[in-house]
Amino acid sequence: MAHVVVIGAGVVGAMAALNALSEGFEVSIMEPATPGGEQAASYGNGCWLSPMSVIPPATPGTWKKVPQFLADPLGPLAVNWRYLPRALPWLAGYLLAGATEARVMKHAEAIAPLLRGAPAIHKAIADEAGVGHLIHQRGAMYIYPNRAAFKAEALAWRVRRRVGIEWREIEAEELRQREPDLDRRYGFGVLVEAAGHCTDPGGYTAALVALAEAKGAKRISAAATGFRIEGGRLKAVRSSAGEVPADRAVIAAGIRSKPLAKLVGDNVPLESERGYHAVLLGDAGAYPRTPLMPSDGKMGVVMTEAGLRASGQVEIAGIEAEPNWKRAEILRDHLLSSFPGLPRDLPADRFKFWMGHRPSTTDGLPVIGASRECGDVLHAFGHGHTGLVGSARTGRAIGALLARRAPEIDLRPFSAARF
Ligand SMILES: Cc1cc2nc3c(=O)[nH]c(=O)nc-3n(C[C@H](O)[C@H](O)[C@H](O)COP(=O)(O)OP(=O)(O)OC[C@H]3O[C@@H](n4cnc5c(N)ncnc54)[C@H](O)[C@@H]3O)c2cc1C
Repeated sequence: MAHVVVIGAGVVGAMAALNALSEGFEVSIMEPATPGGEQAASYGNGCWLSPMSVIPPATPGTWKKVPQFLADPLGPLAVNWRYLPRALPWLAGYLLAGATEARVMKHAEAIAPLLRGAPAIHKAIADEAGVGHLIHQRGAMYIYPNRAAFKAEALAWRVRRRVGIEWREIEAEELRQREPDLDRRYGFGVLVEAAGHCTDPGGYTAALVALAEAKGAKRISAAATGFRIEGGRLKAVRSSAGEVPADRAVIAAGIRSKPLAKLVGDNVPLESERGYHAVLLGDAGAYPRTPLMPSDGKMGVVMTEAGLRASGQVEIAGIEAEPNWKRAEILRDHLLSSFPGLPRDLPADRFKFWMGHRPSTTDGLPVIGASRECGDVLHAFGHGHTGLVGSARTGRAIGALLARRAPEIDLRPFSAARF
């Protein structure tokens, strides 16, 4: 039986491993840390399983705000001055990728099939892993002060419509009924019923890895460092624990995938869009009934197993810089202002802050497919803002590629060769 080593046990690696098992491979999961642990983006994300996340992070006009990104270290998108020289080429590509409506449309058309129907796929897998209660399919809502603010985002919604996303517009009164705890400054909602959410993405990831192990996958506690390739065929994955013989490998190491991909010929422009979360631990009495995205905060607000979580922010500062916890405080303060019923005198230890790395390519699309120099080494990384939702179909695509079957969606936009 051919042996596949999956590198990285975030949600993407976990899904790749499960699909490799379904295709009849012997599977090892190589991960130096805890699967779904705090080092992984899969732990702390916004919990959204959102088929409508088809808009790239930079849209037409975003480039005009670059001076603002540099001047305001606490703005929703900030670039660290000291890191700017290193980030510049990536940043230029990132801004260009969404610079026109046609480019936004191209992005949406590429990614929509990867996200379509994802909540139901997640639900089925979560049920099998015994954690079905973590996946909900109740929709998600964008909230605005009024209809005019919604119309200001017309381009995004126009593009969503063109790729088949449907929504329901919610007027103030219905919004109050649906979200009785929400601050009255929001008077308009856009509900996407096809969306879902996961109330503990780290726990979900851990459960997927446990399911893979129950199905026979082996865990290797090590960090991959390279590959031994002879005559164009993979012979082994090199790691901190020595060489592991392998016939195939899947690079799914999130932000740390870049150096591994380079070793197999693909110089992918991958940068960390550092993001944060603040969780108000426990039940504080006020909460959203549906996952919410406030237009004035650009963050995901979701009730999770641990408590009320706000996640968001984009900070370009590399993977080594210390977290700037003021960013998590912004998320916390937004939570408090959005839910006036929350107590004002909560002790600091009721809040948990986290920072993690979105593994982001310049064009906001993941890298899925064979590497340039060795067809036995597959890429499955670079999912940026949509790795939780996109992991389910990415896993299926990896399964198909391993089995040398045609994948169910067009993977050409995700080829590493596009860079
Ligand atoms: C604030 C924030 C909010 C987000 N919100 C959402 C959302 O609402 N919905 C959504 O779909 N997505 C969201 N995302 C994005 C999503 O979290 C990521 O795209 C996704 O988790 C990436 O998964 P991954 O498995 O590729 O990487 P990770 O989860 O980072 O996992 C990579 C794993 O690889 C391991 N690893 C690293 N180096 C090596 C090595 N050399 N060898 C072996 N293993 C290695 C790491 O330890 C880690 O466990 C958000 C991200 C952030 C930061």
